Amino acid sequence: MTKNRPVPLKILMKAFGAEIVVDRDRWNEFESGWRCKPGNAFCVVAPRNVEELRSVVRKCVADRLPLVPQGALTGLVGASVPDDTGTMVVVSTQRLKSVRHFSACDGIIVAESGLRLSDVNALGLPHGLMLGIDLGADPSIGGMVSTNTGGSRLLRYGGMRQHLLGAEIILADADATLITHLPLVRKDNSHIGWSNLVAGAGGSFGFVSAASIALDPVPAQQATALIALETLDVLPLLVGRLRMTYGELLSACEGMSSGAIEAVLRHRADIRQPFAFGVPNYTVLVELSTSVEPDMLDLDALLLSKLASMFDDAALAISDIVVAPPEKAWGLRHAISAALALDGDVIGLDVSLPLEQLPAFRERWKARLAAEVPWARLCDFGHCGDGGLHFNLVRPHATAMSDQSDSIQYIREAICREVNALEGSFSAEHGLGPANAQIYSALIPACEQKFVRAMKSIVDPYALLSRALPR
Ligand SMILES: Cc1cc2nc3c(=O)[nH]c(=O)nc-3n(C[C@H](O)[C@H](O)[C@H](O)COP(=O)(O)OP(=O)(O)OC[C@H]3O[C@@H](n4cnc5c(N)ncnc54)[C@H](O)[C@@H]3O)c2cc1C
Repeated sequence: MTKNRPVPLKILMKAFGAEIVVDRDRWNEFESGWRCKPGNAFCVVAPRNVEELRSVVRKCVADRLPLVPQGALTGLVGASVPDDTGTMVVVSTQRLKSVRHFSACDGIIVAESGLRLSDVNALGLPHGLMLGIDLGADPSIGGMVSTNTGGSRLLRYGGMRQHLLGAEIILADADATLITHLPLVRKDNSHIGWSNLVAGAGGSFGFVSAASIALDPVPAQQATALIALETLDVLPLLVGRLRMTYGELLSACEGMSSGAIEAVLRHRADIRQPFAFGVPNYTVLVELSTSVEPDMLDLDALLLSKLASMFDDAALAISDIVVAPPEKAWGLRHAISAALALDGDVIGLDVSLPLEQLPAFRERWKARLAAEVPWARLCDFGHCGDGGLHFNLVRPHATAMSDQSDSIQYIREAICREVNALEGSFSAEHGLGPANAQIYSALIPACEQKFVRAMKSIVDPYALLSRALPR
């Protein structure tokens, strides 16, 4: 695509402020994201503080320029980058990184939206604190609030909404109104809880400039094991048994299909297959965590002894169990996304299902894909303990491109419709954006869409803010 950059930089610098406009040679970095076509920005700005951010919003509202709030650019639904029209202003939070408050005794941090998850954890670690959301990327706080990030430890710690105590937002009105509710306490019902609306809104309900976040204790020890399943049918039974057996110690339960693991083994010579007999049909990673020190509780022994009795239970159809050190078990799990991208184009579907429905859903679609889209390699994985399934299909690079975009769209939609009919979610944790805009319009009830538009008209009267919702 030839980029159309009609407005001279000098004019943009005058309009937005010379210190704020990003050097044009670097715009490509802000226009390309994960699993989406690169866009074409009208301008890319990176304000250094909230007042500069407000002045950008004011300018965009005055000139009716659409804004794309951008954090760490790890979003997976295409909402973090501009479209290809050359009309959108990318507003990066990468320079908004102040920590406004940190209290080890309250376990609370108030951070500006550009601070990264890794920054929060680095600050908390010496005080035994962390933000208990774990994923294979390093997102910004604003992006995490806006997408309501889930991650591998949602079972234990919840997602971003459960950690959000309050927020500071900028409305896309003529004044760029600033609304601040950043509590330094964990309990505060003196406000109506509007920040819950911002969580998961993808920036639609206001530009998040800061957030107050509750932190979690860092575990003193973790134990992990990999369980090989002959069939996925037993998953609901297994997850129920793990929850009952380990209670609050259970911190993660992740599923990996043979397709996903084989992709890792193809691309990562340093990762060995965990089971002596080969790659099982499905592998489940189980993690226990506790703040209790090992001299008081031997977590590895507890994990192993209870798993051994599950192994003996024929109803669970477990082929093998290996106790792997956390770095090895998670090394395999976190290598999947990058390995799939090396294998081909990833058609990512981030769904969740009631666990009882998940195995049959997968089997049905495995058969349908083999019959209807033979080029699609099913490489699913995900947070199966909470019903999460990254139902990812890979189109190997060698496959011919002809006629495939229609079949991809058709398959995407058919899968999402079935998930919806089963009362699951077509966007479990990655949020809303161009990648699922069509399906949002088709599946979210009209009265709900009307309600959302009415709410949005208050915070963003000219519909300029964010690409999360369909325009
Ligand atoms: C390898 C990999 C693994 C991942 N694993 C998981 C996972 O396990 N669980 C999970 O939930 N997600 C996962 N993700 C997705 C992604 O990391 C999350 O969606 C993340 O929260 C996005 O944060 P970000 O800072 O990168 O936001 P961006 O990608 O920059 O933006 C995402 C959305 O938030 C909006 N936004 C960003 N900042 C602001 C702001 N300050 N105010 C208003 N709106 C804003 C953007 O406009 C966009 O709509 C993964 C991504 C990758 C690449």
